[in-house]
Amino acid sequence: SMASPALLMRVVASAYSVAEKAATIVRSVMAEGDLGIVEKTGANDLQTKADRLAQMSICASLARKFPKVTIIGEEELPSDKVTEELIEDGHCEEILKKTCPAQYTGIKEEELVIWVDPLDGTKEYTEGLLDHVTVLIGIAYGGKAIAGVINQPYYNYEAGAGAVLGRTIWGVLGIGAFGFQLTEAPAGKHIIVTTRSHSSTLVNDCISALNADSVIRVGGAGNKVIQLIEGKASAYVFASPGCKKWDTCAPEAILHAVGGKITDIHGNSFQYNKEVKHMNSAGVLATLRNYDYYASRIPNTVKQSLVP
Ligand code: AMP
Ligand code: MG
Ligand code: MG
Repeated sequence: SMASPALLMRVVASAYSVAEKAATIVRSVMAEGDLGIVEKTGANDLQTKADRLAQMSICASLARKFPKVTIIGEEELPSDKVTEELIEDGHCEEILKKTCPAQYTGIKEEELVIWVDPLDGTKEYTEGLLDHVTVLIGIAYGGKAIAGVINQPYYNYEAGAGAVLGRTIWGVLGIGAFGFQLTEAPAGKHIIVTTRSHSSTLVNDCISALNADSVIRVGGAGNKVIQLIEGKASAYVFASPGCKKWDTCAPEAILHAVGGKITDIHGNSFQYNKEVKHMNSAGVLATLRNYDYYASRIPNTVKQSLVP
C-alpha cells in the first residue's frame, strides 16, 4: 500500500484549496460592494472586510487540519467570529501526488510556521486595481521559506465574461513551482518593478541608481514577484521598510523554487521562524536572474538609511 503523503505536501495541498476559498471571499466582498474599510496605521495601511474574512477562513481552516502548526496572519482579529461557512476542508490532489524532497519528509507540525497575508495589495483593491491583489500563504521550516501558495483572485479579469477568473501558483523548494509559465525578462534590459502606493525619496533614489530602461509601479509583493517569474520585470526593488514577513514568505518560496533570489537591500536573507520581527526593515531586492547586477548597484547612501 502507498505510504501516506508527507506532512509538508498535505499542508501545501490544503493551502492551495484554502487560498482558492479566500479568493472567492475576496471576489464576493467586492461584488457585494460594502468593503468596510478600516485604517490601521494610516490612509496607506488599510484593512477591509475581505482582509478580515479571508484571514479568518485561511487561519481557521489550516488550524483545524494542522492544530500544532504556528500560523501568523497579518490582521489582528477577534478569534471568536469564525463561522462554519468560512471553513475549507479540501485539498489539491495533484500536489499530493508529488514526491516530498527527502530533507522535508520528517517535518513535524510543531516545526512549521505559516505566514498568511489574506489580501496583499489592499490599497489597490479599494481603488479597483483588482489584478494587483493576491492571497499569500507561505510555509517556513528552520527559519526558511520552503513552500508557498499565491492565488490571484482576479487573474484574467480583462478577458471578460466567460473567461476563467483567478489562478493559483504554488511551489516547494526542491520540487519547483507550478500554475504559471516561467519566463525570463528581456535580456539586456533593466525593467524595475516597485511600489505604487508606498513611494518615498529613498525608494526613488534607489531606482534612479539602477540604470532602468523602464519602471513598473504596481501594488502587492505577491504581484511583483509574479512579474519577475513571468518575465515582465527584471528586478523588484523596494528601498523602504513597510513590507512584512507575510508579504515575502510565499513569494520567496516560489521564487527560490525556480532559481531566483530575494533578500533585503543589503543582501541579507529573510528569516521566518515564529519569533522573528515582522517588519522587513531593510527593504526588498528580488530577481529571477542577474541578482548580482542589481545588488552591486544599490547605493551605499541607500543602504545606510535602511537598518535591518
Ligand atoms: P506595495 O509594494 O506598496 O504594495 O507594498 C507591498 C506590501 O508591503 C503590501 O502588503 C503593503 O501593504 C506593505 N507595505 C509597504 N510599505 C508599507 C507602508 N509604508 N505601510 C504599510 N504597509 C506597507
Ligand atoms: Mg501585503
Ligand atoms: Mg494584506
